[in-house]
Amino acid sequence: MEKRKLIIIGSGPASYTAAIYAARANLQPCIYEGFYAGPPGGQLMTTTDVENYPGFPEGIMGPELMDLFRKQAEKFGTTFITEDVTNVELHQYPFKIESSSGTVEAEALIIATGATAKRLQVPGCNDGEFWQKGVTACAVCDGAAPLFRDKPLFVFGGGDTAVEEAIFLTKFGSKVYIVHRRGELRASKIMAKRAQTHPKIEIIWNHVLTKVEGDNVVRSLTLQEVGSGKETQHEAAGVFFAIGHEPNTGFLKGQLEVESNGYIKVVKGTSRTNIEGVFAAGDVQDHVYRQAVTAAGSGCMAALDAERWLSEKEHAHA
Ligand SMILES: Cc1cc2nc3c(=O)[nH]c(=O)nc-3n(C[C@H](O)[C@H](O)[C@H](O)COP(=O)(O)OP(=O)(O)OC[C@H]3O[C@@H](n4cnc5c(N)ncnc54)[C@H](O)[C@@H]3O)c2cc1C
Repeated sequence: MEKRKLIIIGSGPASYTAAIYAARANLQPCIYEGFYAGPPGGQLMTTTDVENYPGFPEGIMGPELMDLFRKQAEKFGTTFITEDVTNVELHQYPFKIESSSGTVEAEALIIATGATAKRLQVPGCNDGEFWQKGVTACAVCDGAAPLFRDKPLFVFGGGDTAVEEAIFLTKFGSKVYIVHRRGELRASKIMAKRAQTHPKIEIIWNHVLTKVEGDNVVRSLTLQEVGSGKETQHEAAGVFFAIGHEPNTGFLKGQLEVESNGYIKVVKGTSRTNIEGVFAAGDVQDHVYRQAVTAAGSGCMAALDAERWLSEKEHAHA
């Protein structure tokens, strides 16, 4: 069976950054970059302008940024397998990594499979419709875009994230509506109060989204009152989903310790998981920041942690 020093599962800012550092440290990393599990290159492959990644004052398209990351990883000797990892065996050493083309052994493993933003399955919100043309799942990423300036914006959700995103969007929109399907927010009391007392925020209780319409961008949406079923149309430029993310950890089948919300648990300030030699980076272990730059930073940490762990192990056996 083929054996690698370091395997990285997932692709995106965390994975590619880990590979750049690991390849330059002669660990000859191999990345399983995914296929069906998500777009190879990660979440930024699904977006247009990225305006907050340092080093690009004019902004850069998400796919172009990921292409540059990948090229840089390749330049230093990273190899890529464009397949999903379907199974891992972490209770044996070396670890076993399984994909459709077979099983490979790894001395160290970095998991950087990211997370998937949950979307409402509503007409108008899908790829090829208004997704990324006014419909998005990241206010911090997209809120400052010109198409949202001084226009009515709608946030869907009822937790702290929905409130945080709504408050952030008040800097840009003419008015921000939080639409919640219940009559009470799930958000903490302090956050709920902030939303309820904010002059630019209005909460629309007991309503759900049924349709998003527009021309080349979003222009309006339809809400339906829970119970009565009564529908109302509203002018809108932005539809922001704040209904949570799902970390991509299914292939681990419970072999790694996770937080109560399913994100991989790491030792604070490191990328170390509960299994020695297994490291985690990027959104799969971060439910707080979820940005390309933080994912890249944690990818660097994972590569340095893996390198140190491998070299300590070698010295111990020398
Ligand atoms: C629409 C949108 C716009 C955004 N805009 C910005 C922005 O402007 N600025 C910013 O900083 N952040 C932005 N973000 C957030 C940013 O994209 C994420 O924080 C970042 O991509 C997380 O990187 P990651 O390395 O953890 O992996 P991800 O980007 O989450 O990618 C992980 C990838 O791993 C692969 N994978 C998953 N499972 C497997 C498996 N079993 N086997 C092999 N491969 C697998 C898939 O290809 C998956 O896509 C945006 C997110 C979205 C959804």
